Amino acid sequence: MKKSPSEIKPESWLVSAGRASEPGAPLNVPPIPASNFIIGKERVYSRDDGTPTWEALEEVVGGLESGKSVAFASGMAAIAAVFDQLAVGAVIVLPDDCYQGVAGLAAEGANKGRWSVQRVAVDDTAGWISACGVADLVWLESPSNPLLTVADLEAICAAPRKPGAIVAVDNTFATPLNQQPLKFGATVSLQSATKFIGGHSDLLGGIATTNDDAVWHALKKSRELTGATPGVFEAFLAVRGVRTLALRLQRAQQTAMLLAERLEQHPLVTRARYPGLPSHPTHATAQRVLKGFGSIISFDLRGGAEFADAVCQNVRLIRHATSLGAVESTMERRAAIPGQGHLPPSLIRLSVGIEDADDLWNDLNSAIGASAS
Ligand SMILES: *Cc1c(COP(=O)(O)O)cnc(C)c1O
Repeated sequence: MKKSPSEIKPESWLVSAGRASEPGAPLNVPPIPASNFIIGKERVYSRDDGTPTWEALEEVVGGLESGKSVAFASGMAAIAAVFDQLAVGAVIVLPDDCYQGVAGLAAEGANKGRWSVQRVAVDDTAGWISACGVADLVWLESPSNPLLTVADLEAICAAPRKPGAIVAVDNTFATPLNQQPLKFGATVSLQSATKFIGGHSDLLGGIATTNDDAVWHALKKSRELTGATPGVFEAFLAVRGVRTLALRLQRAQQTAMLLAERLEQHPLVTRARYPGLPSHPTHATAQRVLKGFGSIISFDLRGGAEFADAVCQNVRLIRHATSLGAVESTMERRAAIPGQGHLPPSLIRLSVGIEDADDLWNDLNSAIGASAS
């Protein structure tokens, strides 16, 4: 008999869930590349009925968030399935600082007259609470990308809402190990499995998790009708990756704290942003709503965009690449990304991996020094 997620710690669930239990079955659910199945049981066509490989991933992540998951082709596919629930004329409230893909999706729909969009600052808890009374979709992302502002999800998710409203939380940066939006009262929690769940920068995937049965069916229906299905090998890799999530995250966030403290002291760094730093504007909220402060840091350099670009070119252990949440450390200058021109020009977002902390610090420090001279 398998253990249920409430009987064991999340670290154990990550390793034990999503496996067969019949004697003779492979210990790991293999990639099963099937579009169709011999008729006679419930599974007929995979776009409609799923595959055992997707279900293994859904079981692991769903149990981790105390809900039921639907796996998608990417984080954006999972997000689009939530937006797909809205009727024409809906009101969407988005954070001022959020993933550019979500802002883009919302703007596209607004331009086409499907809905209207309002923005609220991530840390404006009173603004969010009043938004809950009028919005059909309250979209939160916390910690935010890339300013790492932490929203008071506990207060916001408990606020009275318009009947039928969806409160969705993009939980990609925190992961289910550091934050549990459904327990605070959110309707849906989202993961770009491309990031921490997969953890190796080798797949695209997304997962939506809910504890509302009607919403779960609606999300699954959306996947069926839009065809935003996960790749079977990607789902297999994501399960393989998520087994080590607790170890990877624990190590990376320990290093991130150390690097953030050192960056904050560096004479050429004007500002280090990390929710674990006492100087961070939402540090107190982070201490309350997050179990750990995560492995993403952003910092601004004295000297502007050119200097920051040089630092990105001069790192040798850290890779100059976008994305985050993988075993390898990556960094990029975010204002260089289309649609991110509002950010401080020298802001670098660093995703801390599992390399040795001193090696990472030496690499950063040398790259900053080399770029200054
Ligand atoms: C990457 C990311 C997404 C989009 O996920 P994809 O898998 O690239 O589609 C959404 N939200 C956040 C916070 C992300 O970092």
